Amino acid sequence: MQHEARPLDLPAPHAIADRVLAGELDALDAASLTRYLAGEHDTWELIAAADRVRRGRFGNHVHLCSIVNAKQGGCPEDCGFCAQSKHFDTGVSAEKFLTHDQMVSASLRAQAQGASALGLVTATRGYEDGSRALEHMVEGIRAVREAGFTEAHASLGFVSKAGLQRLKDAGMTEFNHNLETGRGYFGEVVTTHSYDDRIATIRHARELGLRTCVGGIMGMGERPEHRAELAMDLRALDVDEVPINFLVSVDGTRLARSEPLQPLEMLRIIACFRLALPRQNIFIAAGRQHLGQLQPLIFSAGASGMMIGDFLTTPNRSVQDDLDMLAQLGLEGSVCGAPRPELAAAAASPRAPVRRLPVLGARPELA
Ligand code: SF4
Repeated sequence: MQHEARPLDLPAPHAIADRVLAGELDALDAASLTRYLAGEHDTWELIAAADRVRRGRFGNHVHLCSIVNAKQGGCPEDCGFCAQSKHFDTGVSAEKFLTHDQMVSASLRAQAQGASALGLVTATRGYEDGSRALEHMVEGIRAVREAGFTEAHASLGFVSKAGLQRLKDAGMTEFNHNLETGRGYFGEVVTTHSYDDRIATIRHARELGLRTCVGGIMGMGERPEHRAELAMDLRALDVDEVPINFLVSVDGTRLARSEPLQPLEMLRIIACFRLALPRQNIFIAAGRQHLGQLQPLIFSAGASGMMIGDFLTTPNRSVQDDLDMLAQLGLEGSVCGAPRPELAAAAASPRAPVRRLPVLGARPELA
């Protein structure tokens, strides 16, 4: 339900935007956020306020990233949305790890598509210290870094602090570990590990000075208060990037029968997350297609980035369509994280033309 008028006890989104732009990054409280998410305020006014915050903090820069499935399928966890869980019959086969050469090729492809970072993703519960699998990924990160085409990010499940240190030493600059949904709904989606397990891994990464990429999936049956819980936890964890996914239901999974969210609700969620998380790079990943004709409005609603290229098990629209959309909107791609001299050096290499891009969200305190 959506009201044209704001209830008198609910702050105006533009008043929140004013405070955020004045430096008060936690201006939006959990109760108001929940009510915004529940549709107690006009969506277009939320979008207008979120757009002011996006432009004030990110200008016209958009972060582009890309992922590759470095090990597909056969995951022992039972995340109810996931085509790669071995608990569900989805037709996704369990494959071996990509070779290091394949990882480097994926990095080159991502760069050619305009992405500044490649995330190496594996369908695994996690990695034991000293395991061959961990060493394979450490060397994969090193290979991607040494090739110099893109940043090397990773999403590997649970990794100890010592394991994360090994990955960092090999050149990993950012670690992804999504919380998936709010604490109060997590048990409805996953039963083989806990929300606090995930928080512990994110804290390890933060403590090591890695950039952290932590988001969730909308449209799994959660309520507005669960979405607000997720946003507030992301703020408390002070993560750097927030991927927002919209459920693409996959036959065979526990959430196969979920209806896609409506486009305006999707934009409202993005706007609410922007007002709640003004510092974070909010990028839109899987499920963008549910927006239909409204896809370009993700930026007006506050998104500061998007994932390009195919997702793990589902295709995305063409990279050229995404790049054309950015050009028509007058937006520019930006590098994520601290600048790296070797990327500039690679720009001079004849084998790989690298665009020199401005820096988005560099955190000198973590350098
Ligand atoms: S841990 Fe990751 S790969 Fe495994 S089932 Fe959950 S979402 Fe899928």
